[in-house]
Amino acid sequence: MIPQLVQHYIGGKLEPSASRSVFKNFNPATGELICDVASGAAEDINRAVAAAKDAVWNGPWAISTASERAAVLRKIGDLILAKKRQFAEAEAIDTGKPLSETLNGDIPRSAFNFHFYSELCAHQVSPSFRSDDGSHHTTLREPLGVVGLITPWNLPLYLATWKLAPALAQGNAIVLKPAELTPLTAFLLHEVLQEAGVPPGVVNIVHGFGPNSAGEALVKHPDVKAISFTGETTTGSAIMAAGAGSLKKTSFELGGKGASVIFADSDIETAAKTSARAAFRNAGQVCLAGSRLLVEESVAARVIDIIKSEINVIKIGNPLDESTKLGALISKDHRDKVLGFIEHAKTLPGVKIECGGRIPHGFPKDSAFLEPTLISGVSQESRLIQEEIFGPVLTVQTFKTVAEAISLVNGTKYGLSCSIWTNDINRANFVAGKIRSGLVWINSWFIRNLHTAFGGMKHSGVGREGGQYSLDFFSEMKTICIANKLHERHGATWI
Ligand code: NAD
Repeated sequence: MIPQLVQHYIGGKLEPSASRSVFKNFNPATGELICDVASGAAEDINRAVAAAKDAVWNGPWAISTASERAAVLRKIGDLILAKKRQFAEAEAIDTGKPLSETLNGDIPRSAFNFHFYSELCAHQVSPSFRSDDGSHHTTLREPLGVVGLITPWNLPLYLATWKLAPALAQGNAIVLKPAELTPLTAFLLHEVLQEAGVPPGVVNIVHGFGPNSAGEALVKHPDVKAISFTGETTTGSAIMAAGAGSLKKTSFELGGKGASVIFADSDIETAAKTSARAAFRNAGQVCLAGSRLLVEESVAARVIDIIKSEINVIKIGNPLDESTKLGALISKDHRDKVLGFIEHAKTLPGVKIECGGRIPHGFPKDSAFLEPTLISGVSQESRLIQEEIFGPVLTVQTFKTVAEAISLVNGTKYGLSCSIWTNDINRANFVAGKIRSGLVWINSWFIRNLHTAFGGMKHSGVGREGGQYSLDFFSEMKTICIANKLHERHGATWI
């Protein structure tokens, strides 16, 4: 059931904003109002941080063992799966993305984030050393304390849980600030947390905006020891600056401008079809989207033809219809921003809109749909190549040599992900080695193993998430040294 009012979750209770103010949340596929949302500000963040601080140092969470936390995480994952359809429908209504994606992608993956970190939590090791003087040195991991999580709207529950699970595994207490455009699944999560036995105050959820609102207050709060942020690159810079005063640990997963690089010797059919999926999944609103297609000149015409055929069979429709493949964009404002890039493309010499580029017919006036769009002939300096469009827009550029392909891939400020399509393993390894991005797929896209490091180079991020990397981020290391009598024999000092 979709709530009519989304409230904060503070200290284990649903709470209105101190100011009682709310903002409106709209369905991007219909333009209709979904619900009112409590609009958080500094007072609400202060209450949430106080509840978290108490829970992390004084409550049952403070003395919980790793096995107990692992059991709680497992239960959260189980409960999300048990309520899969409810979460999936809420996510589809809130984001405009197809139910088939939320049901088979976002929600099961959110549950898996908890199951995965439940396993890791229970099996952490503490390295131990014995020195020649007989002393024992053990490095333990302790919680940071109160940590802040700030998440975007494109994969709301998936990314919130990707941070929540390791933060909880390490015994922290949390204040989560979900994206203002997609508060629903974070709200529904509070019931799961209660049912799973997460003590009050361990997870707090404060809704609201970023600048001069809940997000900024969270970043500036002196009792918040770390901020894990996923969102736009410019927001990452603002958060880094705002958090500097209180010396916060930060992890940033930022924007991307991924490329699919197709060499002539690849399996062209698979490469082109997968590149279309990489560009248009979730209407291109994926940080890992392959939004730039770089194709060897000799096969460019063939690749473009296959991609156009793929685009022609993408069913645009109501996100709640399970046969829909492309839903709405997140909002009308965002759709208009993406359209602005397409309009700009039309003014550029030599640029061709191969297909798409329009608002499709037959949808409600206030909805945010846009046709999948393929644009060729764009030069590397263009805004379409240099800026993150974050919509269903794929640009095509051609290259003649390996060196040219590498230079085009690396020629933006971003460095998150890239796919290389070739049947020559030596070439694949060479190109992978030269590309400045945190993730390189060879003959594939979007395959993830959650143990591996995830994150961006250049302006796509700072730090890495995933597996042990997230556990490291959400903890402090403490080394304990136990001396023994050998000290005296060696005449060692105590410091
Ligand atoms: P955004 O940066 O506008 O907002 C993200 C979150 O930050 C929201 O919760 C917002 O309220 C909050 N925020 C905004 N300004 C803030 C401030 N000054 N202080 C504190 N909080 C603030 O991003 P978005 O539009 O929600 O998401 C899309 C972006 O996220 C794209 O750039 C996309 O590439 C990126 N993204 C990156 C990854 C990754 O793993 N690298 C994954 C998903 C999305």
